[in-house]
Amino acid sequence: MYIIFRCDCGRAIYTRKGVSKKKCPCGKTINVKTRRIISKTDDLKTASQIVRELQEEKYGGLRFTTADKI
Ligand SMILES: [Zn+2]
Repeated sequence: MYIIFRCDCGRAIYTRKGVSKKKCPCGKTINVKTRRIISKTDDLKTASQIVRELQEEKYGGLRFTTADKI
């Protein structure tokens, strides 16, 4: 099981269930147990996909460009 949550900086992060602390790339260490869980999944691939979608939502999807559009 993987859980997806957000850091205070707004970044979406996933971690394996049972992990109590996770360090965000912004430098903050997050106490996973006190976080509101956005989503959860059994599949690692799905977890990373959800995180990517959450990031695109936050940044307006501007970073999403396929190679044929460049
Ligand atoms: Zn952060």
